Amino acid sequence: MQEDISIYEAAKYPWSVMARSLLKQLDVPLAEVDKNLRIVDRAKQRLMDAIETHSPRPKRGLSDDAYAELTSFFIAKALVDAIGSMYLRRRWATIEAKSTEDFLIKESDGKLAQFAKQEFDWQISSNGSRIAGRTYSHSIHFTNYLAAAAGFHEREWKLVNKRLNNGFVMLRKTETARVLRAAVEKLLIRDIKKVPADFPPNIQRVYEEIAVLVQKRADRLKQEIEGEIVSEAFPPCMQALLTDMRQGKPLSHIARFAITAFLLNVGMDVDSIVELFMQAPDFREDLARYQIEHIAGKRGSTAYTPPSCAYMISVRLCVDPDKAGTRRHPLNYYRYRRKQLSKP
Ligand code: SF4
Repeated sequence: MQEDISIYEAAKYPWSVMARSLLKQLDVPLAEVDKNLRIVDRAKQRLMDAIETHSPRPKRGLSDDAYAELTSFFIAKALVDAIGSMYLRRRWATIEAKSTEDFLIKESDGKLAQFAKQEFDWQISSNGSRIAGRTYSHSIHFTNYLAAAAGFHEREWKLVNKRLNNGFVMLRKTETARVLRAAVEKLLIRDIKKVPADFPPNIQRVYEEIAVLVQKRADRLKQEIEGEIVSEAFPPCMQALLTDMRQGKPLSHIARFAITAFLLNVGMDVDSIVELFMQAPDFREDLARYQIEHIAGKRGSTAYTPPSCAYMISVRLCVDPDKAGTRRHPLNYYRYRRKQLSKP
């Protein structure tokens, strides 16, 4: 019975340490998992949700087949790893993190706090308090808050607009769940493994279907930005990075990654980007070329896209945070502006 409860908990939070260790204990060979079509179909549904929708579908049957729910998460993750598309990875991470938030909201305040401590090592307390007529369920150390929520662009999330008490940010339960969701999303985006695209037959079939779908999406998005590069349509963050590059200012690692991935995605070739980097004070052509080719996916299976606006805000590379809400991604900004500029 204890194990049933654990499986149910792990199925709700399949990315957690507890879920991973439970799956390890169960130690079911992949070939066996492949024969269970409930698991394979659910893994496929998880990825279809990620590609087609903005929110997870309601989980029917979680209580009666928590094992399928738990295992399907790991199959979906292996497929995301094997397909190697950042587009798919981000969308999948978003949908799984939203699902986590839905479950977290239904937990007790104490459980939420315990969860945040266990999984993210947060300093958090669930001693509710009422200050200036407002009720708060949790207080979380401002460093943990900033690390998770720095990418939030709405004013209400800015630290200056939050009530602070001795270095702790006071939050309502829905806010705590939202901040935890952001932490889960980041965790899933970063947790990349190298997985060969070599699965047993049923999982392989899903791999092929999803890989084709993702490729079609990528082609469609690419078509929208292909053709002549319209630098006037570059978002302000990328314009600023280009200016810094041209002036020979040193760029941080993440800034170099962001501008390189952006330029590659709008169609600039590796040689032209190497030329741009020549202005950098620490320029070394072999190293620069290697890094650019890596981001372009020429040295591995993953071709990267630039970070989202939320991430750019969190690393202080966004220069126009108020626009992030409408565009959400520098490439969306570029597509939109490019279309606008092409109108007669
Ligand atoms: S809102 Fe997004 S696209 Fe605009 S400057 Fe900030 S990061 Fe760049």
